[in-house]
Amino acid sequence: MKGIFPIDKFRSLRTPFYYYDTRVLRDTLAAINSEMSRYDRFATHYAIKANANPKVLAIIRESGMGADCVSGGEIRAAIRAGFPASKIVFAGVGKADWEINLGLEYGIFCFNVESIPELEVINQLAAARDKVANIAFRINPDVGAHTHANITTGLAENKFGISMRDMDKVIDIALGMKNVRFIGLHFHIGSQILDMGDFIALCNRVNELQDKLEARHILVEHINVGGGLGIDYTHPNRQPIPAFKEYFATYAGQLKLRPHQTLHFELGRAVVGQCGSLISQVLYVKQGTKKKFAILDAGFTDLIRPALYQAYHKIENITSDEPVEAYDVVGPICESSDVFGKAIDLNGAKRGDLFALRSAGAYGEIMASGYNCRELPKGYTSDELI
Ligand SMILES: *Cc1c(COP(=O)(O)O)cnc(C)c1O
Repeated sequence: MKGIFPIDKFRSLRTPFYYYDTRVLRDTLAAINSEMSRYDRFATHYAIKANANPKVLAIIRESGMGADCVSGGEIRAAIRAGFPASKIVFAGVGKADWEINLGLEYGIFCFNVESIPELEVINQLAAARDKVANIAFRINPDVGAHTHANITTGLAENKFGISMRDMDKVIDIALGMKNVRFIGLHFHIGSQILDMGDFIALCNRVNELQDKLEARHILVEHINVGGGLGIDYTHPNRQPIPAFKEYFATYAGQLKLRPHQTLHFELGRAVVGQCGSLISQVLYVKQGTKKKFAILDAGFTDLIRPALYQAYHKIENITSDEPVEAYDVVGPICESSDVFGKAIDLNGAKRGDLFALRSAGAYGEIMASGYNCRELPKGYTSDELI
């Protein structure tokens, strides 16, 4: 065992694989619950899309969180993991009829509706089943998040949500429908947000919109501010627990919740990011003309974030104490973008060494693909490897 990893156990497993440290996950969930319990009427939902590994989901469900789903498949995964339908919210710009029907059949808590045509379809499908669907409107607040362009979602140019200008109109349409019940407003401005100022900007926008609604004597029961809290990719050991205290305190201080309103959060990355590592073996160390390459058996098919968002993951050679050298750490996929890091200082590497790509619990295993006819990586929890 070097540091936090059971190396001996790793040696008997086929690489690459994901390793989930359940102590980190449980500590994270405990921190969420203890920070949230300072405030009345706060509710959290785990964004299943960050990681749907059944063993991880089971631990999250035990903590009491609800589930935030963006597809029918995710609703199924949530139900299978034991999340109660009464705590499932369903978002997404393109909900197919079968996915809406699945949500209706389970009687999920709320559909977060992103357009008028979607509202009409939900009303029709609910009518055909003689049901009334709870709906919230996802409003695009035109608030920028200081994060990578591919993961901002709350700008007017993004495809998500209904524009603020159309809010009154869509509410009037919903209020005239028999098979939907308008219960709330939903927002989500982006991901990997570390600047609380971005969340304050959202709070200010929600306050403005609530004032407008109040002027029309409309009071919704639920405000859902989405997720987006970021994690410290640079220092996973020093900062394994995200800034939940500041996060919840920001909303408690800035968002003017009306009496009897519940404030919902949808956290993904912040829940699972730090508990996961991608473990990979060095296949070859190659001396190039200018630099050394450590060629891993993991590629972007296993962890796509560096190739897709130029994301940084801390890389460690967990089986070497040799003097530090600089390596370009690359995968075996036949694409030039299959690079995990350039000029990374690592303990001297040789064939067979194990590398850990840290902070890979969110948007890692779940985004794996079979490109190059590669097998999907497996995921193991520390509980299983004891
Ligand atoms: C992705 C997503 C989330 C979770 O985002 P994180 O940045 O992982 O916290 C929450 N809500 C919605 C609607 C999402 O699409």
